[in-house]
Amino acid sequence: MRALTFHGTQDVRVDTHPDPEIVNPRDAIIQITSTAICGSDLHLYDGVIPAVMKGDILGHEFMGRVIETGPHSTLRKGQRVVVPFTISCGSCFFCGQQQFSACDNSNPVEKRDMSEQLYGTPMSGLFGYSHLTGGYPGGQAEYVRVPYSDVGPIVIEDDSLDDDKVLFLSDILPTGWMAAENAEITNGDTVAVWGAGPVGLFAAQSALLMGAHKVIVIDHYPNRLKLAKGLGCDVINFRESNVREALMEMTGGIGPDAVIDAVGMESHGFSFDNMMDIAKQTVGIGADRASALKQAILAVRKGGRVSIPGVYGGMTDKFPLGALMEKGLSVKAGQTHTQKYMELLLGMITDGKIDTTFLISHRLPLEQAAEGYRNFKSKQDEFTKVILKPGMGA
Ligand SMILES: [Zn+2]
Ligand SMILES: [Zn+2]
Repeated sequence: MRALTFHGTQDVRVDTHPDPEIVNPRDAIIQITSTAICGSDLHLYDGVIPAVMKGDILGHEFMGRVIETGPHSTLRKGQRVVVPFTISCGSCFFCGQQQFSACDNSNPVEKRDMSEQLYGTPMSGLFGYSHLTGGYPGGQAEYVRVPYSDVGPIVIEDDSLDDDKVLFLSDILPTGWMAAENAEITNGDTVAVWGAGPVGLFAAQSALLMGAHKVIVIDHYPNRLKLAKGLGCDVINFRESNVREALMEMTGGIGPDAVIDAVGMESHGFSFDNMMDIAKQTVGIGADRASALKQAILAVRKGGRVSIPGVYGGMTDKFPLGALMEKGLSVKAGQTHTQKYMELLLGMITDGKIDTTFLISHRLPLEQAAEGYRNFKSKQDEFTKVILKPGMGA
């Protein structure tokens, strides 16, 4: 089969690999019909996540048709499914709490040492996201093996819902929703979201659906800010305004009730400490750049909530710990418990309450995946979301 393959920093290619096979009784093999490039794939592409290796197949946002099932899979051949990016066993302590992205069984024992050293406990398995998370081949491919296929994938019974409408159930829609849920939004709240990328936009959309009175989205890409406005959000362009002053002005001098950092470790910023972080990251003594998060913590109101869907992988320094304590903030973060939200969100898509298709800017054949990565990285304003279609002629 053909699959998007990591060769080195900013070097990905579509190569030929052996077709995946059933390994465990609960596996299924899916023929991919649509797969997306995620902002967090750019962390792999840029080489800032350790343990991605030459030859790895990337991709964790995908859907398709079931073509083969193990004896204990609950799926049937021919079913159309969206697969969550988190791999979860469904029966460990964490899966029992619906904390699927903390699953204790999906990251194979021999892969756990590095994440255990970095984070204190091993991470769960994720598709196509380095050997820290199990080294599972991803779904930017013609076919993929889905472990625990009786737990993860959601079956799309309604064939009139085309791929564009449901594909984002695999990651970014549940991720945006959980980010808003983690911000504990109640009626009338003012919420500020850093980053008008896919997760930031879906978090903003979710916050409005949860009853936020005002959602303010912060970015510097004009087209992305336009998408935020289209959702009914206010916007701040951080190249044109002082973000903290603008937020104070928009909130009667108090600050937002909740803040969401949908930028993560690659955040831009012009402060001295951010420049130092960039320099350190570049020479490989890697502190995560966290300027969005630092700004969010300083801007949020006293007693406010901080939600972090943006991906961080290592350490950061000059963290405003004092502000966290003295302002009495609460913080929630984490990889998405995708399986927990898929059914709810599919219902909202079916009912027409959520439409995510506004985000898609480009649809490319899988063979053009490398070009998709290059453009998604370098022309972020224009390439808001790239969908790869393995079945599409080049
Ligand atoms: Zn993703
Ligand atoms: Zn589990």
